Amino acid sequence: MPFSLIPSRLFESYREVTPEYLRRAGVTLLLSDLDFTLAPKVVRRPDPALRAWIRDLEAAGISVMIVSNNRSGSRVTEFCADLGIPYQGHAGKPSTKGLEAAMARAGADRARTAMLGDKLLTDMLAANRAGVLALMVEPLGGAVTLWQKVLHALQAPFKAACRRRGG
Ligand SMILES: [Mg+2]
Repeated sequence: MPFSLIPSRLFESYREVTPEYLRRAGVTLLLSDLDFTLAPKVVRRPDPALRAWIRDLEAAGISVMIVSNNRSGSRVTEFCADLGIPYQGHAGKPSTKGLEAAMARAGADRARTAMLGDKLLTDMLAANRAGVLALMVEPLGGAVTLWQKVLHALQAPFKAACRRRGG
């Protein structure tokens, strides 16, 4: 569904996205947003839980690549270098260009690719437009600022639609 805001599946945390789940879904390339998906924005270095999650996915033959709209290069570049995974910056989500570039770099096709993120209007819309599996997580650290709370409320009906479909 090219212009849908409805995720394919909802998770409480990235940690629930397991190698077993991805293998069953036929996914060999996991594209992921960074901020509020894998770490709160203020965190500058990956924690042990995130390192272990990446290691387990890679051990299962699943490549992970960060696809971020973030324009302040150094934090994201250092974060990904620290994790040892590639980074596709200036992704321009909900444009599909960052996802397409990441798939080309990894040599993966859309049928075997998933996009994980916390925002409907960027991550999930880009995923659905690109024809990859759209996996949504609750924002890591929760909705803190007023804007985050508003955004959270606006996303609720689409997440409910996802749950009704069994996602
Ligand atoms: Mg995010």
